[in-house]
Formats: sequence, C-alpha cells, structure tokens
Amino acid sequence: MNKEYEVIIIGGGPAGLSAGLYSSRAGLNSLLVERGMVGGQIVNAERVDNYPGFPEGISGFELGQLMNQQATKYGLKTIIAEATGIELHEEQKVVKTDEGDFIAKVVIIASGSERRKLGVPGEEKFMGKGVSYCATCDAPFFREVPVAVVGGGDAAITEALHLVKFASRVTVIHRRDRLRASRILQEKAFSEPKVQFLWNTVVDEVEGEDLVKRIKLREVKTGEKSALEVAGVFISIGLKPNTDYLKGILPLDPAGHIITNDKMESGVPGIFAAGDIRHDSARQAITAAGDGATATIYAEKFLS
Ligand code: NAP
Repeated sequence: MNKEYEVIIIGGGPAGLSAGLYSSRAGLNSLLVERGMVGGQIVNAERVDNYPGFPEGISGFELGQLMNQQATKYGLKTIIAEATGIELHEEQKVVKTDEGDFIAKVVIIASGSERRKLGVPGEEKFMGKGVSYCATCDAPFFREVPVAVVGGGDAAITEALHLVKFASRVTVIHRRDRLRASRILQEKAFSEPKVQFLWNTVVDEVEGEDLVKRIKLREVKTGEKSALEVAGVFISIGLKPNTDYLKGILPLDPAGHIITNDKMESGVPGIFAAGDIRHDSARQAITAAGDGATATIYAEKFLS
C-alpha cells in the first residue's frame, strides 16, 4: 500500500467521510484511516430523521454505507488501522498506526468519541453479558426481561424509548432530579408506561453470575443503598473524545477535545479537526459532515 499522501484523514464517521469526499473529489491523493467499521457512531442509530435529504428518515447503517460509497467513488483509499500518534516534521506529518507509518502534508482528525464508562465494579466483567453501551445493537437480547438505563441525556432517553419495544420494564437511573435530554424526548419517556425513573441515584456495582442479575444503587442525597433486579444495564453517560493518541501534540480542552478556529485549524499548521472531536461541536451527524467539508476546503488552501 502506498505510504505517501497529500491528505490523511483519521476517522471514518460523517466528518471523516465528508472530508474524504471533498478531498478525493478535489483530486487530492487521500487516505482514510479507520480502526473499526466505516460509518462511525451513526451506524448504531436505528433511524436518523434529522439528516437533510431523507424526508422519510434513513437507518444510520445505510447512511454510513452511502457516505462511504460516495467518498470512495472519487478515489478515497481506506485502511483499517488504529492511529497511535502523529509526528510533526517541517514539510510533512507522519501518522503512526498499528499497521505502520503513513506520510501526509495535511492531516484531518475526525476520530470522534466513544461511550464513557461508569468505572464501577462489575461493569467490565459483565460487558457483553448484560452490560451494554448500545441499545440499538443489543436490545433484542432483552425480550420480556427488566433492564436499566443509566444517564439522563438525549442518548439515555433515546435508548430507553428503543428498549421498551423489547424489555418488560425500563428503569432510567439518573444522578440528578431532572433530565438533561431535550423536552420532546422527555415528554415521550414520561408518557411511556414501561419507563420508570429513579432520581438522584447512582450505580455502585453490577452483580451476577454468568450474566447480570442485579445492580447495587445509592441515593446520592440520603446515601441509602438498594438493589434492583435487572437482566441488562445500558450505560449512556456521554462521550469521551478519542484524542489519547494526540496528547502533547495538539492543544486540547480539559475534557480532551481539539480546540479549532472556524476554519477547523487546530493550531498546528496542516492539522485540522472535524466533528465530535472538536471543542464545542454540536455533535450531530450533519454538523460533523459540515466540519469535514470546511476542514478540507481550508486544507486545500493550505496545500496550495
Ligand atoms: P450528554 O448529553 O453529555 O448526557 C450525559 C448524561 O449522563 C447526563 O445526564 C449526565 O448527568 C450523565 N452522566 C455523566 N457522567 C455520569 C456518571 N459518571 N454517572 C452517572 N451519570 C453520568 O451525552 P449523550 O446523551 O450521550 O449525548 C451526547 C450528544 O449527542 C449530545 O449533544 C446529544 O444532544 C446528542 N444526541 C442527540 C440525540 C437525539 O437528538 N435524538 C440522541 C443521542 C445523542 P448530568 O445531567 O447530571 O450531567
């Protein structure tokens, strides 16, 4: 495989695929580096109703596939590899990956984010055995059994509303006494008889034998402890930017997002960032795709 490119894009979600479409269509020799499945987090969304151009909505998986098809049509190359660092040289950047080093004049970082972990005993042990981070992927395994969703944001409530189609009962466990989720999602959840709420409550431990059987809970104000019998725990407590491999290379905000200007420039000449990985991103597929296009337009100007 060729090792030298004009543009290397790290991450194959809507931001990276949009950057890949713009750069390959502009005739730039471009490589996209993706560690898992091209399409990004959107592939887990059962239905996407807010991406323009699809008035009937579209499955996230199909949207990811279409974006990939459109970008590769213009010659974008893709390698499945995990980026582990970037070395800065005067004229070029070396993108280090577990499949070897690749060289480019411009790097567009669009490696997105991953689900944040609770960090409690049992969470890791029961991952895939009752602990899940994706209801769209795993809900069908929990037919007619009680489950819990941890978190109070849009993602947690979307997960809870998906789970009611399968589970016998869905308990949303939130650390505060009000949800962060948008009003429309809150209203849907409050009117759904299968969804119940435990407020001001955190999970201290996940317990079971081969599979999850219960979670140990604590009321944060009174300290009162309890247990809830569940077969599944869906953890949905926000996202962590995938920037560990960039520490010391780029300016990051305290949460680890890349700080950019409105041209998507990172502060290091020739390195751009796009999508959820950016500080203050709106974290939507459409805004990520817009970032990818913007980054590439200014990357092209940088190259010329
Ligand atoms: P989020 O909006 O950051 O919400 C995270 C939730 O988890 C918050 O309720 C937070 O509690 C809670 N939390 C965080 N750390 C916790 C911990 N250690 N223990 C217990 N609870 C914890 O994240 P998100 O829901 O994943 O959404 C991410 C972005 O994607 C948002 O911009 C969202 O709007 C977007 N999104 C949109 C949709 C949609 O429009 N349908 C669907 C999914 C996601 P506090 O409230 O107390 O901070």
